[in-house]
Amino acid sequence: MARKTNSHPDVLVSINPATLERLGEVRLASAEDVRRAVAEADAAFPAWAALGVEGRAKYLLRARDYILEHVDDICDLISKENGKPRLEALSAEVFLITDLITYYCKRAKEVLAERTIPLHNPLIRSIKSSKIVYEPLGVVSVVSPWNYPFSIPMSGIVFALLAGNTVVFKPASDTALIGLKIDEVLRKGGGLPEGVFHTLIASGRAMGTALFEPPVRKVVFTGSTEVGKKIQEVAARHLVPTVMELGGKDPMIVCEDADLDLATSGAVWGAFMNCGQVCASVERAYVHRSLFDRFVSLCVEKTQRLRIGQDVNHDVDIGPMANEEQLATVEAHVQDALAKGARVLCGGRRPPGLRGYFYEPTVLVDVNHSMRVMTEETFGPVLPIMPFDTEEEAVRLANDSIFGLTASVWTRDRERGEALARRIQAGTVTVNDHAYTYGICETPWQGMKESGIGRSHSDEGLLEMVFPKHINLDHSFGFMKRRMWWFPYSREAYEVQKMAVRAFVSLRNVPRFLASVATRGDYRRTLY
Ligand code: NAD
Repeated sequence: MARKTNSHPDVLVSINPATLERLGEVRLASAEDVRRAVAEADAAFPAWAALGVEGRAKYLLRARDYILEHVDDICDLISKENGKPRLEALSAEVFLITDLITYYCKRAKEVLAERTIPLHNPLIRSIKSSKIVYEPLGVVSVVSPWNYPFSIPMSGIVFALLAGNTVVFKPASDTALIGLKIDEVLRKGGGLPEGVFHTLIASGRAMGTALFEPPVRKVVFTGSTEVGKKIQEVAARHLVPTVMELGGKDPMIVCEDADLDLATSGAVWGAFMNCGQVCASVERAYVHRSLFDRFVSLCVEKTQRLRIGQDVNHDVDIGPMANEEQLATVEAHVQDALAKGARVLCGGRRPPGLRGYFYEPTVLVDVNHSMRVMTEETFGPVLPIMPFDTEEEAVRLANDSIFGLTASVWTRDRERGEALARRIQAGTVTVNDHAYTYGICETPWQGMKESGIGRSHSDEGLLEMVFPKHINLDHSFGFMKRRMWWFPYSREAYEVQKMAVRAFVSLRNVPRFLASVATRGDYRRTLY
């Protein structure tokens, strides 16, 4: 959590959201600092690109080893500045990145290797060949949120660097110190050459638009749909492509044959991990009416067992929310639901006796889609549960959203799970688990509808960081002086091309086409 000081408007004070104690101060970058960083990254690009994948991987593997050497410090800092328990910092932030670096430093060479495009038509194939070569783009800007302040930016940064781009990184100001730790990991730990990587602690509004305009060649933004749209507008003015990983309102569908114990533990973890501040958390649960009451009472029982507080002795499940604004949004959503007839079965308040931005994990019933808590992103520890009678209804409710990030289906029947997964509008649908695939580096992370554009993680995410340049080569070796499609145009050329059109449709017509070239003497003479 961070606040600006009144006496020094360009200084940010980082605050522990559990205790409200000061953790440190950081100078804010100006719009001019941002422009300078982009220019320096642009100047450093050719030398970095020229190192090749294996040359660049060495730096990233060194950075990975630095993370492992300092793992306790990193988890402590994430927990102190962001609020999540250290176990979550380790499993959802650090592990993902050390694994991603290890795997993709090996795999990238294969993913980014040039490839031949098989040309299907023998007429073209006999004199031409085509290939794709993957070229780095140039400067990539990475702008990230506070909820996973280490793993989200690092995964974009690692892919961008590995693919041969230079990077300008702007962390969320609420987690500025973690942003600076990433800078330390890459520049001190990895030893990146000067200019290749820049970190700017800047306020979103005051930093100007230089991160979204040329010479920046790609924007990798993770954050709210509202801010994502603003950035997309700026980038679109310059045709700068983007990857947008935005908000979610992820549904969980619990079928009548679900394993109740598994599904309720999954619901409680999916809704309350990271204090519910997860783009892919269970934001709404739809449960078959036949097991609704038992599902609700088990969820309440398991929720009441969660231990809330600051993680000092590894005996806490839920930390504070990361900032006051997000806490206010959660309170507003719960109040709106209560005013429209919802009931709180547990939680629904700030826990007495705790100083920081805590909110008790909350289970709500009697909810419907007129409530903000069922349609807008709550991004907090709230689990609203609604019954359904038919699968048709469950799918309709799940898809009744502007978002489409992830979803989960809970059933003992794998075929049923897959059939339902195919009908839900979401970038990822998991059966009998929720959200965890963010931790698998080789599967894509992506949103449908207003949850985003493009993808991160996976081979497809790595390919977002390169341009697939097409090179077409000629193998006629001067034998053909002209192409069929060149000047001069004539009736003979028209007749020959008519045959060619037929030859492209079916190989059976090729002999007639070749004969037509051979018999049109004038035309043939211009070709050879
Ligand atoms: P946010 O949109 O407020 O901020 C994200 C980043 O953008 C921060 O670095 C912020 O400083 C910066 N920013 C804000 N206004 C800006 C502006 N006008 N110009 C340039 N930069 C600006 O999001 P947040 O509150 O930090 O994070 C929560 C949101 O992120 C939620 O909506 C959540 O769903 C989403 N999120 C999505 C994913 C995903 O993978 N889809 C992952 C994590 C979080």
